[in-house]
Amino acid sequence: VITRDDVLEWITRYAEILAENRDYLTQLDAAIGDADHGANMDRGFQAVMKKMPEMRDKDIGTIFKTVGMTLLSTVGGAGGPLYSTIFLQAGMKTTGKMELTLQDWIDALEAGVNGVKMRGKAELGDKTMIDALVPALNALKQAAENGTTLSDALERSARAAEEGMKATIPLVARKGRASYLGERSAGHQDPGATSSYLLLRTAAEQWK
Ligand code: ADP
Ligand code: MG
Ligand code: MG
Repeated sequence: VITRDDVLEWITRYAEILAENRDYLTQLDAAIGDADHGANMDRGFQAVMKKMPEMRDKDIGTIFKTVGMTLLSTVGGAGGPLYSTIFLQAGMKTTGKMELTLQDWIDALEAGVNGVKMRGKAELGDKTMIDALVPALNALKQAAENGTTLSDALERSARAAEEGMKATIPLVARKGRASYLGERSAGHQDPGATSSYLLLRTAAEQWK
């Protein structure tokens, strides 16, 4: 299972990974957006880290909801509210839980991904974070059906997210700022798909 402490360690590690990848994410966004994705994500998760003391003794649902509310109040643009939605929706699914089974994690992530789809109206292939999140979710479901271990399922989902992220390179963006570029958005990896891959890669490393 994934314990409350595992969840806190995942969030903490993701904040570090975002700080390390701040320039990389900004460069990706500079090519097809407004060069702020690295700064946005870093600012949001630095604010989340300030909430650590108050999150430490809470249930996983409350932790996720606190992350979501914090991102909503600190990160503007498109990415911030969408990441906020992932955590708020995941928080609703995990209210009162002190640990998560693989199925609980699937349900939480699915609620988050559905929230992003509802808010952002992006489908697979529109060159957004959805292109990393949906394959990752599908890989988790497939792994659960096959009865694999939690750690194996998480590894598969991180690999699927990575493939989905790389698959955004040739795509023409149909949502978000990158879509303003039309055909010129092709040939660049989507920043949001990249930060979503990092989120799921961090989960696989932290929860194995
Ligand atoms: P902004 O584009 O407002 O500056 P960010 O740079 O933080 O916000 O985030 C950009 C990322 O948000 C994109 O790379 C893309 O993955 C994601 N994104 C943008 N619009 C949508 C949408 N409608 N649905 C899903 N994801 C989106
Ligand atoms: Mg941007
Ligand atoms: Mg912006």
